[in-house]
Amino acid sequence: MPTPNFIDPGSMTRVRFAPSPTGYLHVGGARTALFCWLFARHTHGTFILRIEDTDFERSSEDMVSGILEGLRWLGLEWDEGPFYQSQRLDLYRATADRLLANGSAYYCFCTREELEQRRAAATAAGVPPRYDGRCRNLPTADAARRVAAGEAAAIRFRIPDSGTTAFEDAVFGRVEFANAELEDFVLLRSDGVPTYHLSVVADDIDMRMTHIIRGADHLSNTPKQVLLYNALGASLPVFAHVPLILGPDKTRLSKRHGATSVLAYKDMGIVPEAFRNFLALLGWSPGEAARQADGKEREIFSTAELVEMFSLEGMAHSNAVFNNEKLAWFNTEYIRAYAPERLLPLIEQEWQRAGFVPSRSREDILAGIALLQQRTRSLTDFAMTFRAYFSDDYPTDEAAVAKFLADPSTLGLLRELAVRYRTLTPFSELSTEELLRAFAAEKGVKPGVLINGARVLLTGQGVAPSLFAVMVYLGQQRVVQRLSAGATAGI
Ligand code: GLU
Repeated sequence: MPTPNFIDPGSMTRVRFAPSPTGYLHVGGARTALFCWLFARHTHGTFILRIEDTDFERSSEDMVSGILEGLRWLGLEWDEGPFYQSQRLDLYRATADRLLANGSAYYCFCTREELEQRRAAATAAGVPPRYDGRCRNLPTADAARRVAAGEAAAIRFRIPDSGTTAFEDAVFGRVEFANAELEDFVLLRSDGVPTYHLSVVADDIDMRMTHIIRGADHLSNTPKQVLLYNALGASLPVFAHVPLILGPDKTRLSKRHGATSVLAYKDMGIVPEAFRNFLALLGWSPGEAARQADGKEREIFSTAELVEMFSLEGMAHSNAVFNNEKLAWFNTEYIRAYAPERLLPLIEQEWQRAGFVPSRSREDILAGIALLQQRTRSLTDFAMTFRAYFSDDYPTDEAAVAKFLADPSTLGLLRELAVRYRTLTPFSELSTEELLRAFAAEKGVKPGVLINGARVLLTGQGVAPSLFAVMVYLGQQRVVQRLSAGATAGI
């Protein structure tokens, strides 16, 4: 039998994430990048990174590196790029020239001042401040002569006089705009810098994008771009506009709601996969595939599962709400579920950032992580409140001291307890607990008093995992040393 000549259509998908480096990588941008990446991986396609840096004043290298760092942190590795629009100006110029040549664009000699005046007058008169078409019908030869003579001119796109421009959006369905509502927008400014519409369409055609996945805030830009595709004789990609992310008060997510920069979440000790899982479900749902036997929807998905289940059909139409509590829940779940070996590199980054140097062996550190991971909400805990588990140089929480060690007799008792522990064999969870309880009974104090006090001396904190598990983890020598040091340190 002949082998069918089968080409997987999915394998040819090309999607891009196209951030403007005029700001950091915003949560919304990261979510768009994630959807593009998931789509590319799901369809065995290509994920392209393009830096839209033609706003020379507002773009910066720092922002670019922050964006790349954020994407890498989230594990969204790209297959092509980063391409920089600032290095592709010739393409935009040539594209504008093609549009001029085929009559889809024209030279505009209106100066910025004139445009501003007219805009102000229109606004004052209560009419939409659109370009009034003044240069639209200048004889082409005249315009070309003026340009050749050195007069500054922008290039504008000629919107059809009537009719509508429509496209089929993979999320929102058919979207239609009356051409009368669109203005003759600038393609290339008089200084040769392209506007967003020109560079984005020129690149998307040149880079053979098959799908444009981006925020719904770009929906109103799309008819202009559709007209550009048509004018350039290019076939349309599939547009998929994804719902916006709102804050809990249902306004667009902004700094008022807390951190909006992806790297701020890294700094808060969020596990990247937890953030990714959380972001994926902001505006997308795997639908019935996630329904569990108990009827509830599953929310924790591995990367492989997300890639497997992702589809544009699962995209929500309504905006998504960013809920910090939910993110904290995802983070806790991921920290709990990870093997200590997998958490270690993430924790090491926290240590490095905090300037903390652990002094215990790798094996001990892994055991310490296993002991602590069930009670952690953030990776930063490992660099701050959990120092006593990884080094003998750790701070002690004053509030815990005031609460549990205010009575000097407690310190004296703990010191005596240290002497008993010195000769205890074996030094196990059971034996350490039995000894402490017997000692408390002997001294006529509640075991809780000694347990609370010992916890503060051993861990520097008022809360910890089971004290006796902590003792075994720290080891006999350290326990003896820390319990007796409290009194001498004058806590
Ligand atoms: N540079 C644009 C932005 O950051 C890209 C928009 C698009 O994806 O077309 O919003």
